[in-house]
Amino acid sequence: MEEQYKAGFAALIGRPNVGKSTLMNRIIGQKIAITSNKPQTTRNRIQTVYTSQEGQIVFLDTPGIHKAKNKLGNYMVNVAERTVRDVDVVLWLVEPSTFIGAGERHIIEVLKKCGTPVILVINKTDTVKKEEVLLFIDTYRKEMDFEEIVPVSALRGDNTEELVACIMKYLPYGPAFYDEDTITDQPERQIVAELIREKALRCLEDEIPHGIAVSIERMKYRKKIVDIEATIVCERDSHKGIIIGKQGSMLKKIGSAARKDIEELLECKVNLQLWVKVKKDWRDSDFLLKNFGYRQDEIE
Ligand code: GDP
Ligand code: MG
Repeated sequence: MEEQYKAGFAALIGRPNVGKSTLMNRIIGQKIAITSNKPQTTRNRIQTVYTSQEGQIVFLDTPGIHKAKNKLGNYMVNVAERTVRDVDVVLWLVEPSTFIGAGERHIIEVLKKCGTPVILVINKTDTVKKEEVLLFIDTYRKEMDFEEIVPVSALRGDNTEELVACIMKYLPYGPAFYDEDTITDQPERQIVAELIREKALRCLEDEIPHGIAVSIERMKYRKKIVDIEATIVCERDSHKGIIIGKQGSMLKKIGSAARKDIEELLECKVNLQLWVKVKKDWRDSDFLLKNFGYRQDEIE
């Protein structure tokens, strides 16, 4: 049986609100645990993992891919484009509609050149008539050559098992990357932490020799705003002083630069609070991984 096992990576892309989180929750079910990175994978992002007796699918979220370069900056666009190149299969989640706008065209361009098999997933099919779905399939098929087109309702769970089976077809044979009781997490948190870290490093201009880490303490969605509390972790008291700056000026600078990007990413207003903490030898501990753990009260 061992050599029959499949394991690989699937990138999940799609506009906000198309149902990515709902689909993940549907596929993963209630199985939730804290993750840890295993040495087999060089990827440092924490992902959503589906494990069954047939195989293991590691889902990677790729926020920002529907944006043209100038809107979100090269950094995020590169992350997204690299992700779709590196995975075994791409899932492109769309609404049941014949509308193909600028965002979709941009995605099509990226997908055409990435060389990875693409499964088009038409979600929310519960909201339209069956005959209409065929029309949407036709519209998209004219745009590019999809490996598969799978209509689903993530909300009701219609056809989602078939989708999982379909994804498995494109994964290579090999051992699982994670323990069977491993993960789900909110990839958004990792991206947010990465953005803050990137901004901090840029503002600090290499003044902190041992680097910094960022952990997201809280991320809470209200109606039209997200409250985010994050901690920048450094190794020395002197570093803490530099990060905070004169009367908090540096921290303010980092915060406002990061907030702008996070608002672009999440497409809503962000209330960002930054803290600075000294934690000696943080790099030797599993501090970061622990901080990225799943917390029930923070589900989006
Ligand atoms: P995301 O931004 O792509 O992660 O989208 P979400 O998963 O947060 O879903 C956005 C909204 O669409 C939520 O209100 C969901 O309940 C709804 N939704 C997601 N999937 C479906 C579906 O299959 N059918 C219907 N009717 N609504 C859905
Ligand atoms: Mg979501």
